Amino acid sequence: MNNKLLNDRDIEFMLYEFLDTEALCRRPRYQEHSREVFNAILDTAKTVASNYFADHYAKGDANEPTFDGQNVHLIPETKQAWDAFAQAGFLAAHYDFDEGGMQLPEIILRVSMAYMTAANTATAGYPFLSIGAANLIHSYGNEEQKARFLPPMKEGRFAGTMALTEPNQGSALADINTTAKPQADGSYRLFGQKMYISGGDQSLTENIVHMVLAKIKGAPAGAKGISLFICPKVLVNEDGSLGERNDVQLAGLLHKMGYRNTTSTVLNFGEKDGAVGYLIGEPHKGLFYMFQMMNEARIGVGMGAAILGYQGYNYSLDYARQRPQGRLASQKDPQSRQVNIIEHADVRRMLLAQKAYCEGGLALCLYASSLFEDSLTAETEDARHEAITLLDLITPIVKTWPSKYGPKANDLAIQVLGGSGYIREYPVEQYYRDNRLNPIHEGTEGIQGLDLLGRKVLQGNMSGYKLFNAKVSATVVAANGVNRLLSMAEQLRAGLDTLNEVTDAILPKLAEDADLALANATIYLDLFGRVAISWIWLQQALVAVNALDEPDVSASDSNFYRGKLQAARFYLEWELPEIGPQASLLMELNSICYDMQDSWF
Ligand SMILES: Cc1cc2nc3c(=O)[nH]c(=O)nc-3n(C[C@H](O)[C@H](O)[C@H](O)COP(=O)(O)OP(=O)(O)OC[C@H]3O[C@@H](n4cnc5c(N)ncnc54)[C@H](O)[C@@H]3O)c2cc1C
Repeated sequence: MNNKLLNDRDIEFMLYEFLDTEALCRRPRYQEHSREVFNAILDTAKTVASNYFADHYAKGDANEPTFDGQNVHLIPETKQAWDAFAQAGFLAAHYDFDEGGMQLPEIILRVSMAYMTAANTATAGYPFLSIGAANLIHSYGNEEQKARFLPPMKEGRFAGTMALTEPNQGSALADINTTAKPQADGSYRLFGQKMYISGGDQSLTENIVHMVLAKIKGAPAGAKGISLFICPKVLVNEDGSLGERNDVQLAGLLHKMGYRNTTSTVLNFGEKDGAVGYLIGEPHKGLFYMFQMMNEARIGVGMGAAILGYQGYNYSLDYARQRPQGRLASQKDPQSRQVNIIEHADVRRMLLAQKAYCEGGLALCLYASSLFEDSLTAETEDARHEAITLLDLITPIVKTWPSKYGPKANDLAIQVLGGSGYIREYPVEQYYRDNRLNPIHEGTEGIQGLDLLGRKVLQGNMSGYKLFNAKVSATVVAANGVNRLLSMAEQLRAGLDTLNEVTDAILPKLAEDADLALANATIYLDLFGRVAISWIWLQQALVAVNALDEPDVSASDSNFYRGKLQAARFYLEWELPEIGPQASLLMELNSICYDMQDSWF
C-alpha cells in the first residue's frame, strides 16, 4: 500500500505555480540560490524523512516514552532521526551563511519540515520546537545568550522547548503562577510547575533549553507582568562546557491519545534553591517575545494538521483504487466483476472532501509562510508592512482551519477504508489520533475565535481586514475574466459580502456588550475560514485554467489541473454555502448558548 509523503506534483504546484517561490532568488538574501538548489534541499529532506522518520511512525505510537524515575527512554530510532535531521543541517538551515546556516527562505524550511511531519509527526515535534526556541533566542536574546546557547542548538547537541502552560493555567496565560526571583549576579531563580511541555525531557540531546514564562516578584498583574527566561536543564559554563544539573525536575510523563513519541512532561522548577533562569530582553515583555514562537508554532500547527490530513487522503485514495466491493446501481448482472470502491460516487465525495480540505489547508499555510518571508525580505518597506499586517489577521485562521478540517479529513479516510479504517494495522486511525491534538494546543479553537473577532479584525484601524478584502476582490476580478470560473467568482464575491455584513453587524456590539458579541466567535472564525479557503481555492483554479489552456500540457498534468478545478468547485459549491446559516446566527447575535444556564444542563 502507498507510503508516499505528500505529493511531489502538488508541492511543485504550490511552490512554483500557486506561489512564486523562484522569484525569491532575485532578493539579495537569496541571490546564491536557485530553483534547482531549493529542489535539491527538498530532495534531501524527503530522503531524511523517508529513511529516518517514516520507519518508526507506528512503532513510536505502540511503544510510548517511559520514565524510570531517573531517565526518559525513547525507542532508538528517534535519536537516529534527530541526528540525521541535525547532520543534514536542517536545524540551522534558515540562518545566514555567516551564522553557519544555508540562508534558506522560510518556505523551503517549512516544506522540508512538512516531509518530516508527513513521515512521523511525533518525532518531528522535537526539531520543530527546537527551531522555534532557537529563533526566539536569536531574535531577542543578548549576545552572551546567543553565543552560549545557539551554536549547540544549531548543531543538535541541545534541544529546545516552550514552557508556558501550568496545571491550572492553559488558555489564560495572564494568570500563570511561576515566579522569578532576581539574583545579585543578574540571573533569576525560577519556582513553579509547568505542564504538557512537549520534549520537556528526552534522551536525544545532552541538554534542553526551556523557554519559560514566569512573573518577576512585584510585576504588574496580568499579561503585562510576564517575563521570558532561558532555563537550561543542565547549566552551561562560560566556555560552553556543561556544568551542574539545574533545579528543573521531571515530575512525570503524560500519556496521550496520539503524538505519543513526543514526550509530554510535567516539569518542576525550583524544588530546591530555584532553577537558574536568564531573562530574555526586558522584564514584563515576555509574552510579546513569546508571541514570535507562538505565531511561528501556530502556522506550524496548521500545517501539521493539513499534512496529517493529506497523509490520510493519500492512503485512502490508494486503498479506494484497489479495494473491489459491490457494483454500480446500473449493473444488474451478479456475475459481473465488482468495481473498486473509487467507482462509487459516495466514496469519491469522501475523497474529494479530503482533497479540498488538505490541499486547501496546505496552500493556506504555505501562503502564510510566504507572507512571513515577505515580512522579512520583501523589496520595499510597504510590501514588508503589508505582509505582516495580513499575516497577523489570518494567523488564527491559518492555525485553526486546517486543525479543524485536517481531523475531519482523517475521519473521512477512516470511513473510506470501512472496517479496515478502524483497525490499528492501518495507519489512518493513528493519523486521526495524532491530528486530534491540533485544535487544542497553541491556543484552542475557542481562543483563536476570540482573538480573530475580538482583536485581529479591529487591529490597526482594520488595516489587515481591509487588505484581506482587497486581495479577495482582486482574485474575484481576475476570475471574472475567465468563462469557466464565472460562477466560482460570483460565489466568492457573495461569500465576501456575507463576511462583511456579519462583521459590520457584530463590531458595533463589541463595545456595548463584549460577552454577547463574542459569544459566537468560533462560528465567526469558521465562516471567515470558509471564505479564506474559497479564496485560496479560486486562486488555485485560476492557475489550473491557465495551465490547461497551454497547448503543450501533458496528459498527467491535464489530469492534475482538472483535479484542482474539480476540488475548487467542490469547495465553493458544497462547503462555502454553509456560511448562510452561520451568518444568520451571527447577525442576530443568537444567544442560545450564551443564555443557557449551568443549572439547566
Ligand atoms: C499534547 C499536548 C502538547 C502540548 N505542548 C505544550 C508545550 O509544548 N508547551 C506549552 O506551554 N503548552 C503545551 N500544551 C498545552 C496547550 O497549549 C494547552 O492544553 C491549551 O492551550 C489549552 O489549555 P488547557 O489545557 O489549560 O485548557 P483550558 O484553558 O482549561 O481550556 C478548556 C476549554 O475551555 C475553553 N476556554 C478556555 N478559556 C476560554 C475563554 N476565555 N473563552 C472561551 N472558551 C474558553 C477552551 O477553548 C477549551 O475548550 C500542550 C498540550 C497538549 C495536550
